[in-house]
Amino acid sequence: MRIPFIAGNWKMNLNNNEAIKFIQDMSFKFENRNNIKIAICPPFTSLRSAVIVVEDEIAKNEGFKIMVGAQNMYFEESGAYTGEVSPGMLKSLGIEYVIIGHSERRELFGETDESVNNKIKAALKHEIKPILCVGETLKIREEGNAVSYTLNQIRKDLKDISKSEVSSLTIAYEPIWAIGTGKNATPQDANEMCKAIRGEIRKIYDNGISENLIIQYGGSVKPSNIKELMAMPDIDGALVGGASIKVDDFLAIINY
Ligand code: PEP
Repeated sequence: MRIPFIAGNWKMNLNNNEAIKFIQDMSFKFENRNNIKIAICPPFTSLRSAVIVVEDEIAKNEGFKIMVGAQNMYFEESGAYTGEVSPGMLKSLGIEYVIIGHSERRELFGETDESVNNKIKAALKHEIKPILCVGETLKIREEGNAVSYTLNQIRKDLKDISKSEVSSLTIAYEPIWAIGTGKNATPQDANEMCKAIRGEIRKIYDNGISENLIIQYGGSVKPSNIKELMAMPDIDGALVGGASIKVDDFLAIINY
C-alpha cells in the first residue's frame, strides 16, 4: 500500500520570516488527513527555522504533520566547496528529504547524471530521503523519445545503488516543458511515464521495490488538476512548485 506523498518545492521563494508565517498559517488552516505524507522544501536560509516552527506547530496542533526537505545538497562531507552545503549539515538540522536532480539544477547549474548519482548515494548514507527528479524536454517528447530518455536518466542516476538503499527513494517525474509553464501533462501521459518508471525499477531491482516505490508527478500541479492526476494508478503524489508557496493552494492540493 503506497501512501500518497505531496511535496512543495519553494524554489528561490519566501524569506525566513515568510517561511515561518507560511508554516504557522498552514498549521492554523490544516485539516487532518492521516493517509498522506506532506513535505515542504524551503531554501537553505529558512531550513532551520522551518524545522523548529514545524516542531512547535506539531506540539500545539495534534493534527498537523509535515516534514521538511532541502532543494539540493553537495555530495562531499566537507571541504573547499564554496557556497555548497553537505548532507551531514542538512542531517544536523533535522532535514528528512532532499530534492536531487531538479531540471532547473540540471539546466542552469550544470548538474549531470553523474553528480546526481553521487548526491543520491551521499544523501542515503546520511539517511536523508532523496526525491529524484527526472523528465524530458519538449523536443525529446516531440521526437518520440520521452520514455527512453527518462528511463536512461533513472539507470544512470541509480547506478550502484543497492536494493536495501533504494527503498527510501521517491522519484518525481517532471517533464521539463510542464514546469512553471501552466501546461501540465495529461493524467494519462503522466501515468504512462510513471508506469514505465515503475517497470524500470522492477527490472533494476525487483517487484517488491517497484510496487512500494512512491512516484510523484510534477509540472504545473494546481488545485484544479490534482484530483485527476492522483486518480491514476501509478501516480502516488506530486512535487509542486508554484502552487506550493501559497498556503491555500497548497492545502487545496493536499486535500484533493
Ligand atoms: C517544480 O519546481 O518541481 C515544479 C513542478 O514546478 P511547478 O509546479 O511550478 O510547475
